[in-house]
Amino acid sequence: MLLTLEDVRVHYGKVEALKGLSLEVGEGEIVALIGANGAGKTTTLKTVSGVRPVTSGAIRFEGRDLIGVPAHKRVQLGICQAPEGRRIFPGMTVTENLEMGAYGRKGGKGKGALGPDLERVYGLFPRLAERKSQAGGTLSGGEQQMLAIGRALMARPRLLLLDEPSMGLAPKLVTQIFSVLTEINQQGTTILLVEQNAVQALQRADRAYVLETGRVVRSDAAAALLNDESVRAAYLGGDVSASK
Ligand code: ATP
Repeated sequence: MLLTLEDVRVHYGKVEALKGLSLEVGEGEIVALIGANGAGKTTTLKTVSGVRPVTSGAIRFEGRDLIGVPAHKRVQLGICQAPEGRRIFPGMTVTENLEMGAYGRKGGKGKGALGPDLERVYGLFPRLAERKSQAGGTLSGGEQQMLAIGRALMARPRLLLLDEPSMGLAPKLVTQIFSVLTEINQQGTTILLVEQNAVQALQRADRAYVLETGRVVRSDAAAALLNDESVRAAYLGGDVSASK
């Protein structure tokens, strides 16, 4: 397994946000976390990226114990989260924003070394390629989201963590973002994804976990969850067009 969480508990003061959560992500998979507001999805990602400490439990990446490993070291190991809420650098150009993404990674930062990485991101997001010199803050919401994902890719992650990449986007753009995520995955990056847009997430994911109040209540192949009546009623808005 690439990533393993075992009986993880996380607290915010007295509030127990994760109550013994266990999950696994295999190399090459897209795994989705779905669940109601406050279920602990974002907290799970923060725990993996290392910005939130655990109270107890185990986190392993390629068998290596991550407890106590600070966030920046986890980036060097290959765990990278796309900036939350599209937090890009508004005063910097698109290219400069992307270059910042390579800052925390190990090696390959010498002169000209970023060229292939930039080309890869611009290949995935032609809209960004057309706006290389534009200030990040003047991009549309969807373009900023693309930039945030692109910036994370510059770190050459083995495991890409994404918190609601489709939030606030028009339906057409949502489909586009999800199709790029599939492409990123096919290029070899494992993805752990949190999504409110559960139907699209399950259509793209290999497997998924359903979280409820800090625990995993279901886990299965994404297609199986997508076609499960009770999951559809509770999490997919009962959308009958949800099936693949
Ligand atoms: P959403 O879909 O609404 O983003 P989520 O599943 O991502 O929800 P989390 O953000 O992980 O849920 O929150 C899990 C629980 O932890 C919630 O009860 C939330 O109120 C609590 N929590 C999250 N962040 C904090 C914080 N900084 N301080 C106190 N409690 C917090």
